[in-house]
Amino acid sequence: MARTGFYPGSFDPVTYGHLDIVARAARIVDKLVLGVGTHHGKQALLPGETRVALLHEATKPIAEHTGVKIQIVTFDNLAVDAARHSHAGVIIRGLRDASDFDYEVQMAQMNGAMAPDIETVFLAASPATRMIASSLVKQIARMGGDVSPFIPKEANAAVLAAIKA
Ligand code: ADP
Repeated sequence: MARTGFYPGSFDPVTYGHLDIVARAARIVDKLVLGVGTHHGKQALLPGETRVALLHEATKPIAEHTGVKIQIVTFDNLAVDAARHSHAGVIIRGLRDASDFDYEVQMAQMNGAMAPDIETVFLAASPATRMIASSLVKQIARMGGDVSPFIPKEANAAVLAAIKA
């Protein structure tokens, strides 16, 4: 049976850390749906449609290389409901450090209580990209720092434009 994974996040902006998780998740699922969270309460730098377009561009080579279908959707409801809507049996999350672990395990357990049929799978961040966080990328860019080592070229351009606007 084909296995579909749902990888939710803000992706504001997509980073090489996210792409590492996408590439590795593509080795364990047949189809990967990336859910761009557009919750009203969360103030994002980039609009949802820009985040979707950047993810699409950045994940195209992974889809081509692995043959895994990668679909990008937005969602503003519960991740488990969005996962179910995408017919996903697993939720994929990345773990960078102990603070990710504490938060992510708690969330996985609450999601598990709401949707026992959906399993959360954690992928440990790769050493080369483990330190990358979208929030720090935005802070560095706002202070004039070069974030090109952390995010794809198109994302860098979008972040710089959004900061100037
Ligand atoms: P959220 O607002 O849900 O934390 P993010 O876009 O920041 O959204 O992250 C989405 C997921 O990607 C989370 O599981 C997060 O732990 C993971 N992630 C973010 N950055 C990295 C990274 N550098 N390496 C591995 N996983 C990461």
